[in-house]
Amino acid sequence: MSQAIPKSCRRCERGPLVHGSRWRGLTKSERKATGGVEHCARGLCRACYESVLGQDALYDYEPVSRNSEEILEEWALLRSDGMTDLTIAAERIGTTRAALEKCLERARKAGDPRGQVYRNGQLGGIRQGSMAGRAA
Ligand SMILES: [Zn+2]
Repeated sequence: MSQAIPKSCRRCERGPLVHGSRWRGLTKSERKATGGVEHCARGLCRACYESVLGQDALYDYEPVSRNSEEILEEWALLRSDGMTDLTIAAERIGTTRAALEKCLERARKAGDPRGQVYRNGQLGGIRQGSMAGRAA
């Protein structure tokens, strides 16, 4: 569960991979200075991820799970900035929405206040009366 992203892309082997959340905070020249590429998901750079997305090849690459402590910390920061959309938050953190939800759920069960999404404990991004709130 605390596995870090690989050093280089699992597909094209470009690297070093830089966490997407960090990458997005960098300027063009800072990105160049890392000498690396953005980690998108599953240990893949963005170009590779986008080229296997929607294909069976995607499943050749297992999702990379980030340390839940890191995820919680980043979530707490984003939330204090007013973030309520878990999909966007997960993307910024560099994880998936499902992984973020699981992480927050575990934290709430453990009584960790960082697991809160809204004060009432509801998940953000799921609006009352939206399709997501209705039984399929
Ligand atoms: Zn690649």
